[in-house]
Amino acid sequence: MLDYFIPLLRNLTLITAVAVIYTIVPKRQTLVPDNVVVGLVCGFGACLAMLDPVMLPSGAFIDTRSTMLLLSGLFGGPVGALVATLPAAALRVYLGGFGMVPGTAGILLAGAIGTAVFYGVRRDGRPVALTHLVILIAVSPLTFVAIFVLPLDVAMGAIERLFLTTTILRMVGIGILGILLIHERRRLAAEDRIRQLAGVDELSGLANRRSFYRALERAIERRKVQPFDFSVVLIDLDHFKSVNDRFGHHVGDEVIRALARILKDNTRGDDVAARIGGEEFAVLLSGANRDAAQLVCERIRVGIAESVVMSGNQKVPFTASLGIATSSSFSRSATAMMSAADTALYLAKQNGRDRVVTEAFP
Ligand code: GH3
Ligand code: MG
Ligand code: MG
Repeated sequence: MLDYFIPLLRNLTLITAVAVIYTIVPKRQTLVPDNVVVGLVCGFGACLAMLDPVMLPSGAFIDTRSTMLLLSGLFGGPVGALVATLPAAALRVYLGGFGMVPGTAGILLAGAIGTAVFYGVRRDGRPVALTHLVILIAVSPLTFVAIFVLPLDVAMGAIERLFLTTTILRMVGIGILGILLIHERRRLAAEDRIRQLAGVDELSGLANRRSFYRALERAIERRKVQPFDFSVVLIDLDHFKSVNDRFGHHVGDEVIRALARILKDNTRGDDVAARIGGEEFAVLLSGANRDAAQLVCERIRVGIAESVVMSGNQKVPFTASLGIATSSSFSRSATAMMSAADTALYLAKQNGRDRVVTEAFP
């Protein structure tokens, strides 16, 4: 009996190990999307499971590969399923033997079933929930259809020997791994929310829109009680849509990060550099009057035009336009200052882009 249970236990331990790997791989700091990470981790787990199968008293071998592959589809969609199933299928072909054809077909089918459930229950993009796991468990026996690539009597014999144990093992596996993955996804979402509340923009590491406006309000209040100049700069990447179209969205994101670095390098501790929209940035220059702001902005503009982002071995050219509004003798609201900077930015775009325009004296 122990001969039977210990390998089963080892397979279940492997499932928790896969969840632990998913927990510790960095997911927010890398360019690799989460569905690819899920696919990689599940594919890795499926390969390990295949290398450590359980022999049933009937002499048949089973393992937990399908558990991982079904979940790769549910959590990672078509991309996750593809990333997981391809290496698993390749390994199954490499291992060869009598079960190669049904085994490989079963692997592909598991990925497809996971993806079908993804489309069926998660079309609205909501996070995976417990009910989705129950649905996945309910449809998971469909993977046995792959066995019917064998002659009918052989297939029926295999099902008789495998079905019950495999189904139980899979229910437990999907339950354990699914709940752990849901838990980790929830933790990540909570972390994102905390970061948002803390005022940090995820992609660029700069301040976000909310904390920029808070800083601007503070500067306006401070100016009411003490002589203090400050300027607001709005920065918008030029023809950024065509950068995305030509080189892909991930290169566009790289350009956004490069611009963020330039803003950090050209601002001081009291200044606030923020990403306030997709490809729109704002800088609050503390203590900067019109001339000082122009000087800083020109440095930023040149820094952007000269910075290098590579796409493969191709240079990605990019520029930005900047609009400046400076605190005036009369007090203006944050909205009025932003609107003045926006008008200046609009003029910079109109006049040919890659330039700095300061608002006409208010
Ligand atoms: P203009 O010089 O007039 O500003 O032209 P534009 O193409 O930059 O302006 P538009 O506002 O038409 O397009 C902005 C583009 O920025 C569209 C959108 O795909 C892209 N974008 C917005 N946010 C992001 C992001 O987070 N990452 C990437 N890669 N692209 C983004
Ligand atoms: Mg824009
Ligand atoms: Mg733009």
